Amino acid sequence: MTKAFKTLDDIGEITGKRVLVREDLNVPMADGAVTDDTRLRATVATVSELADRGAIVLILAHFGRPKGIPSPEFSLSQVVRPYAAVLGRPVRYVDWEGATDAVAMLQPGDIAVLENTRFFGGEEKNDPAVVDRFAALGDLYVNDAFSAAHRAHASTEGLAHVLPAFAGRAMEAELDALEKALGAPEHPVAAVVGGAKVSSKLDVLRHLVTKVDHLIIGGGMANTFLAARGVAVGKSLCEHELASVCEQILDAADKANCIVHLPYDVVVAKEFKPNPATRTVNVHEVAADEMILDVGPAAVESLGDVLKNCRTLVWNGPLGAFETPPFDTATVALAKTAAALTQDGSLVSVAGGGDTVAALNHAGVANAFTFVSTAGGAFLEWMEGRELPGVAALRR
Ligand code: ADP
Ligand code: MG
Repeated sequence: MTKAFKTLDDIGEITGKRVLVREDLNVPMADGAVTDDTRLRATVATVSELADRGAIVLILAHFGRPKGIPSPEFSLSQVVRPYAAVLGRPVRYVDWEGATDAVAMLQPGDIAVLENTRFFGGEEKNDPAVVDRFAALGDLYVNDAFSAAHRAHASTEGLAHVLPAFAGRAMEAELDALEKALGAPEHPVAAVVGGAKVSSKLDVLRHLVTKVDHLIIGGGMANTFLAARGVAVGKSLCEHELASVCEQILDAADKANCIVHLPYDVVVAKEFKPNPATRTVNVHEVAADEMILDVGPAAVESLGDVLKNCRTLVWNGPLGAFETPPFDTATVALAKTAAALTQDGSLVSVAGGGDTVAALNHAGVANAFTFVSTAGGAFLEWMEGRELPGVAALRR
């Protein structure tokens, strides 16, 4: 099947060609060591394949927010050694000064990390002069950084207009998974939207009600919906001022034949700390001095039944305050159900979001989902139904 974008399968003979590859090397570091190498591992498929096919691989990436001012603190040189360890291959470092000469010395199969793209102020402005400066170093452009694709920067968008452009393997896998989840999914489709606040996910909710058959609302944002429906939520995290917005979303769901699931039993506590005294109650029985911190067991069981009847699931946001025991219970239980259905072959499950990934890892099921996106902002913008500029620029 022809894809909407070109991939490494379309790139042809590349021996000796200089390929500029946009990756996400923006890893967290402490005392010179990478504390989470997930992003580095995500680049291995593309970078190894290109090197094995004889390309001169030139990696473009940003690191932190230097705002156009070069400084050692934001230098990608500190990532080169840990990155080489992850790749299991030598990696060179190329500073912007003298980059042309340094690149000219490279041989087919060599891999080099170019210095932080954000050392140029024009990177984030998609300045044509910066685009040209990058483009002069390469013959082809591969974008493999979905997590940066919601930004129209020189290295994430501009380059695709001046060099032959291709999606890398990680980008391709991400786009394929997202297409299966919301682009052309098998119905019925369920979405789980949880997390702290309605206000941070208004556009996500508005878009999903037009796309999915079941919208499962959990987490702190469920409190806001419950309050909008006249439920007294006590001291719970709740955005009372968004009551009318919640009503609008519920109306839109009704019109689109999307069934909204709000919890009908909840776990409450008077104090927000690990293992406090808790009660499991009907949502109408929350006392004035109590907080809703998790979805209750009866609701979780019926949500599991919803998933059993669905073919596709997209999940963003935990159902409860999962970092604090025992308020991880509902999230873990529903995640395990989704994982088991996925393994049985009855459900395509796609999840994303910083805390969601942490919660699925905590539940031990991240690998049992069809796809878990580690792209935070880009994943949310995609859930809002927006076309990401870095992806749009790759379209055929
Ligand atoms: P993601 O990063 O996956 O998009 P969010 O950042 O929107 O998710 O939300 C995650 C946060 O929501 C977690 O820190 C979690 O503790 C919090 N949360 C979930 N349910 C509740 C609740 N009932 N009360 C307070 N906080 C909650
Ligand atoms: Mg978060």
